[in-house]
Amino acid sequence: MKNSLKLSPDQTGYFGEYGGQIIPPALKPIFDEIAVAYKNAQADPNFRAEYESLLKNYVGRPSPLYYARNLSEKLGGAKIYFKREDLNHTGAHKINHTLGEALLAKRMGKTKLLAETGAGQHGVALATAAALVGLACEIHMGEIDIVKQHPNVIRMQLLGAKVVTVKSGGRCLKDAVDSAFEAFVKDPQNIFFGIGSVVGPHPFPMMVRDFQSIVGKETRVQILEQAGRLPDYLVACVGGGSNAIGLFHEFLDDRDVKMIGVEPSGRSFKPGDHAATLTLGRPGNIHGMFTYLLQDDKGQPLPVHSIASGLDYPGVGPVHSDLKDKGRVTYETINDAEALEAFQVLTKIEGIIPALESSHAVAQAIKLAPKLNSDKIIIVNLSGRGDKDVDYVAERLKL
Ligand SMILES: *Cc1c(COP(=O)(O)O)cnc(C)c1O
Repeated sequence: MKNSLKLSPDQTGYFGEYGGQIIPPALKPIFDEIAVAYKNAQADPNFRAEYESLLKNYVGRPSPLYYARNLSEKLGGAKIYFKREDLNHTGAHKINHTLGEALLAKRMGKTKLLAETGAGQHGVALATAAALVGLACEIHMGEIDIVKQHPNVIRMQLLGAKVVTVKSGGRCLKDAVDSAFEAFVKDPQNIFFGIGSVVGPHPFPMMVRDFQSIVGKETRVQILEQAGRLPDYLVACVGGGSNAIGLFHEFLDDRDVKMIGVEPSGRSFKPGDHAATLTLGRPGNIHGMFTYLLQDDKGQPLPVHSIASGLDYPGVGPVHSDLKDKGRVTYETINDAEALEAFQVLTKIEGIIPALESSHAVAQAIKLAPKLNSDKIIIVNLSGRGDKDVDYVAERLKL
């Protein structure tokens, strides 16, 4: 299709006005090398076969598409289906792209995967892929996050990763990004920087999108099988935006399928209290890309907050900035309290404990469904499971 929205980005990594490689000239060859290697890998049937075989036999794909009858009937409106990414090995969608990155790194002759992590979810998914593919792994993590997310630190260590404690600045995610990037540029010949979402310099927003697009491809087949038609709405939470575009991509040219990305409005709409980038931000530069950004007057990223640490990011993948401007996807917000409520509703009514990130998408569906007729279909991407969140939720609810 000539005007297909699926054709982005262009050769230089732009989704409309957004994306690119906003990096020092000395680093450009490193990312260009990855872009070329990725293109070659994509064209190699052996690479694809190995990746697809791992998705099937290691991750457990295809993940089910589940019709939530209890929840739909209680709400009394549209039928709600869940794409069960929570049932993947390691409990979320992230394994879909970390495996792809690990296979590509190995093919390029790299010896080590390196990344930062905030809550540790990306670190665990990358360390898992490194263990499987046979690469060393180094994860940078802020000192404060290391204390808060101790079980994930242990997991990474058991998986053979070296966890580097970052003691500079605020000792959180942003400082871990800086520290990891510094370590990477010291030895880009041997290290592959494993970015955790559809963010960063080209080709990462495209590459991670491609690896995640399996979610929407399966969903299309499954809903046609189960309902005999395409859905009316797709709903997914947006941190960097990888699980959302993973679901959306396959449907971008089906204009009757509406799409809603859900951002966290946290405690309030005041700066520092939320991470509603597309709702309240404006375009700027962050982490090697041009995209919507929550920023101060000087263009510096603002502090962010969400009850779901995986959504706690002041930027967003450039593909979402473009889809917002083009009006193809609508971006809404859900706050901490609404997400926590949806977490409990889904757990009690369907026996599924969702990640707090995914709970934002669930909350949006709970708002939307009663306004629609029962012949309408909403598909929600259940990006991850909530096992990691139960201690925190117990504390909040004083259980
Ligand atoms: C990391 C994470 C997210 C947010 O990342 P995206 O790139 O926006 O998908 C959402 N859900 C879960 C379960 C996560 O672990």
